[in-house]
Amino acid sequence: MLVKSAEFVCSNTQVDKLPAPNLPEYAFIGRSNVGKSSLINALTNRKGLAKTSQRPGKTQLINHFIINDNWYLVDLPGYGYAQTSKKNREDWGKFIRYYLTRRENLQCIFVLIDSRLEPQKIDLDFCCWLGEKGLPFMLIFTKGDKQSNVKSDQNMAKFKRALLKWFEEVPRRFLTSSEEKVGLEPILAAIDEINAG
Ligand code: GDP
Repeated sequence: MLVKSAEFVCSNTQVDKLPAPNLPEYAFIGRSNVGKSSLINALTNRKGLAKTSQRPGKTQLINHFIINDNWYLVDLPGYGYAQTSKKNREDWGKFIRYYLTRRENLQCIFVLIDSRLEPQKIDLDFCCWLGEKGLPFMLIFTKGDKQSNVKSDQNMAKFKRALLKWFEEVPRRFLTSSEEKVGLEPILAAIDEINAG
């Protein structure tokens, strides 16, 4: 897919104020600092579209962007920020769970995982919750340029093994580097495929 246009639509704190669900929608989510904003900017080839390095743990916003006038890319607030309060974490959970389970035009959730790390409980728990709810998701491993491909592959394989304890099949996985613009086209192609039905 060629991204010809990418525009910010709106930021929301309330699920009932989201844009009308009249276009297919793809959500991006992951731990704070996983590289989500960088990935969104790299995918859309727009430097400042998603704001990088926002102070985590502040207002939780659902950001909608419209791509090529025919699908929504959604930037969801990051999870797992250690410095935030328990109340913030609970609010995050409620808000996001509500969005993910109610949004009728949501086609796929891209869960971002830091490829440098061994499987983290918080990411596995989140994937398991998506699985329990029957929500379609794929995994995007970020920051692949920060270590050797061998190391990234090892961490991806460990994550896959951990998921296989709960899932019969593991969802599609992508290894990316936003810094070096690697692994982005397969993600856009997957979106194209779903959009084409
Ligand atoms: P977010 O909090 O998930 O939106 O993460 P950001 O996109 O703001 O990235 C967090 C930090 O990781 C920033 O310092 C980015 O420059 C860095 N980063 C993100 N993606 C990559 C990548 O692919 N490679 C490298 N080397 N650094 C990255």
